[in-house]
Amino acid sequence: MLLNNARVIDGTGRPPLERASVLVEDGRIVEVGSGVEFVGSTGEGTIDVQGRTLMPGLIDAHAHLSSDVFRSPGFGPPPALHGELPRPRELGYFILAKTARVMLAAGITTVRDVGSYDDEAIALREAVRLGIVEGPRILSCGRIISATAPGGAIFGTMYRESDGPDDMRKAVREQLRRGADYVKLMATGARSVLAEDPEPAQMTAPELAAIVDEAHRLGVRVAAHVEGLEGARLAVLEGVDTIEHGLSLHREPALLAAMAERGIVLVPTLSTFHDLAERFTDDFPPALVEQARRQLEEAYATLVAARDAGVTIAMGHDSGPPGDNAIELARMVDGGLPVLEGIRAATSGSATALGLSPSVGTVTPGAVADLIVVDGDPLVDVRVLCAPERIWMVVQGGNVVAGRAGPVSEPAPV
Ligand SMILES: [Zn+2]
Repeated sequence: MLLNNARVIDGTGRPPLERASVLVEDGRIVEVGSGVEFVGSTGEGTIDVQGRTLMPGLIDAHAHLSSDVFRSPGFGPPPALHGELPRPRELGYFILAKTARVMLAAGITTVRDVGSYDDEAIALREAVRLGIVEGPRILSCGRIISATAPGGAIFGTMYRESDGPDDMRKAVREQLRRGADYVKLMATGARSVLAEDPEPAQMTAPELAAIVDEAHRLGVRVAAHVEGLEGARLAVLEGVDTIEHGLSLHREPALLAAMAERGIVLVPTLSTFHDLAERFTDDFPPALVEQARRQLEEAYATLVAARDAGVTIAMGHDSGPPGDNAIELARMVDGGLPVLEGIRAATSGSATALGLSPSVGTVTPGAVADLIVVDGDPLVDVRVLCAPERIWMVVQGGNVVAGRAGPVSEPAPV
């Protein structure tokens, strides 16, 4: 495949390459350049993208793949009316398949699930991997490892509650047995749980250290849910790989400096704070809404402080509906990231968070050909990336899988 006449934003943060060509062979990018020998070529497999913007596929580093579309009004089927037969539980898998397809059409070529009910994310990952449904590449944490906590009573099968270092090790091993790609832990409580104070650390240092040690010993990465500063300190010092939310970090610059030095990635998830502070205020107790408003301000402060400290930033939507993921990128830009840095976060930054860099997340020779071609100029209006109808072509592993440019190939195993 040869994509000609493109404006290439390569995802590294470098300025765009004009009138460029991208050569793809065996699912990988072989060459990128504005070499005249490419321009005007009309051979088979050559596509003239007519000056549109070509970028790496977007990567959502913090999503909850779920058939429960509570946070995605209008996405699933309308609620059953009184007198209707109960809906079969198995309808949920079709909702998951739709989720995957919609994300792909929106230009999301990779997604990291950070917690789902009943191992739904693993089921969907396998359906995509086996070519049964089309969808992004999916990474799953299995179940979230949490200390015994009120959240466990609310989140049920999304959690694996665990206490004491030995049991924490066992919980890590259980997730790998389940098919997890990495491990997620709750370093602090969650803002959406009334009975949890998100400020103190929820695990002890030996517990968190046991998880990190066991995961790293077995070759997988660790993502830590972090809200308050004590949990942030613990997670950074014990060496997790990504900090999810991390809104309190602006209060302690030394921790941000340590993250930059050790390559710990921040996934700010601004959208989730907008949800609780603005969008779903009727669904949560007033105390949580008020807390979320404070946290929203802190999350934006931390975004800027992390950027200034040189921390790698990734894009994590942590919201709904599926397909709206890139609003998180727009919000990071609103919050102070220059557009090229926002795009870098949503592509190579997220790939780094997932441990997929450098083979995924950039338009550079050797990288997997996960690409999107967009109508319009995201450097002028980043919100063109939020409009699925502006996503002209989605390429996954060298195959055109979505977009108006067509023809679209059959789902292929990824
Ligand atoms: Zn989340």
